[in-house]
Amino acid sequence: MPEVVFSVDQARSMRDQNVPGHNRWHPDIPAAATVRPGAEFRVECREWTDGQIGNNDSANDVRDVDLQPCHMLSGPIAVEGAEPGDLLVVDILDLGPVPQETGPKPGQGWGYTGIFAKQNGGGFLTDYYPDAYKAIWDFHGQQATSRHIPGVRFTGITHPGLFGTAPSAELLAKWNAREQALIDTDPTRVPPLALPPLEPGTLAGPLTGDALAKVAAEGARTVPPRENGGNHDIKNFTRGARVFYPVHVAGGLLSGGDLHFSQGDGEITFCGAIEMGGFIDFHVDLIKGGMEKYGVTTNPIFMPGNVEPRYSEFVSFIGISVDHDTNTNYYNDATIAYRNACLNAIEYLKTFGYSGEQAYLLLGAAPIEGRVSGVVDIPNACCSLYLPTEIFDFDIRPTADGPRRADRGQCAVSS
Ligand code: ZN
Repeated sequence: MPEVVFSVDQARSMRDQNVPGHNRWHPDIPAAATVRPGAEFRVECREWTDGQIGNNDSANDVRDVDLQPCHMLSGPIAVEGAEPGDLLVVDILDLGPVPQETGPKPGQGWGYTGIFAKQNGGGFLTDYYPDAYKAIWDFHGQQATSRHIPGVRFTGITHPGLFGTAPSAELLAKWNAREQALIDTDPTRVPPLALPPLEPGTLAGPLTGDALAKVAAEGARTVPPRENGGNHDIKNFTRGARVFYPVHVAGGLLSGGDLHFSQGDGEITFCGAIEMGGFIDFHVDLIKGGMEKYGVTTNPIFMPGNVEPRYSEFVSFIGISVDHDTNTNYYNDATIAYRNACLNAIEYLKTFGYSGEQAYLLLGAAPIEGRVSGVVDIPNACCSLYLPTEIFDFDIRPTADGPRRADRGQCAVSS
């Protein structure tokens, strides 16, 4: 096992660790550890809400979750010699749930998928599913099953939802300006268009007093992916992946967390992955001046992981950029097209006895493939969603006999 450079006791909040992590992006948050290029090391992570969600049959904890301290990140890890303009080469060697532990915190033998309430987080289909729901998943080695979605078992495509480098002060100011401009177009929208800096709940490693107040006032929230990486939720950052992060500050300052046991493309329920705490093993290196050398001017580039579940047969669903209820056409809008592909998949799964909420949770968590299939055939963008048939213990392929309907229980609901 590589040296643990950031350790977490899962029985304690991130605030109470020997070296606390952080939950905002800001260049002033000091490095928790320093490694050399070429180093292999382990980072331990809390689940993204810092352990607010329980292994139970009620979604009240999802409904009432406090999003102010999210995401709870491990780090920053400084890399010796890293300078602005470099590319930080990050190999994901291994990752998984909390090793050899069962217990009450996500990652201790189990994880969860949540549909967040429209009033508190929302999600891709929040206009159709405005209330909170939850599915608990039990881990069996690399496979997951859920008492809340029976009839399904799949191998997780385990990956980190969120890693990134620290922004420079200049880059952080750019983010805050452009996101505030977006918020200003509809400041009372629910869910909000973006999340501005928020002082309550801010954790900035060991910082206190004025230094903490500065991070709280300026620090960027961790929800979106940005030029530093961040919350990509790319399921293919699995074992064997190599990510090239732009370096914006001395040392690079790599941080992250939000480990996922599995996730479908799009992570459509907002917390659609199977969320967990756990460990991640890295190897790091530098490409000096790599941003200019390779024309990496905005976002990271990456080579996907080479260890993934092998599913070879799919039933696939198509969506186009049309609101079918109002017969309204949207011009080449891939978001609307993918939403329709998801809704079509949910309607199909309902014919087998699943509730819409169960199907929505499953599409967030299982290793489904989402594709932007066409964006030139005016006026309709076309997206598709590939659902592996082999994750079900019954046949979901369409046949002349019709769907095999059964009582498939229910996910956790809120009271
Ligand atoms: Zn996540």
